[in-house]
Amino acid sequence: MDFHDIPYAATSPYCRCKLQTCGGLTINPDCPDHGNKKNPAMERHTAGNERCQQLTKENTR
Ligand SMILES: [Zn+2]
Ligand SMILES: [Zn+2]
Repeated sequence: MDFHDIPYAATSPYCRCKLQTCGGLTINPDCPDHGNKKNPAMERHTAGNERCQQLTKENTR
């Protein structure tokens, strides 16, 4: 199961996460912004679920 995390803060150039079309990130544990013990996500959803599709629509509008 894949999760997408919507981060609190804008991603820095050091971000190693994979940006998804919905605007969420697939967190890379090595990411200095969002990895491991950081807690960046204000929202998490399952990849491809209703919320993800809604965000993708808003993002691509
Ligand atoms: Zn990151
Ligand atoms: Zn998503």
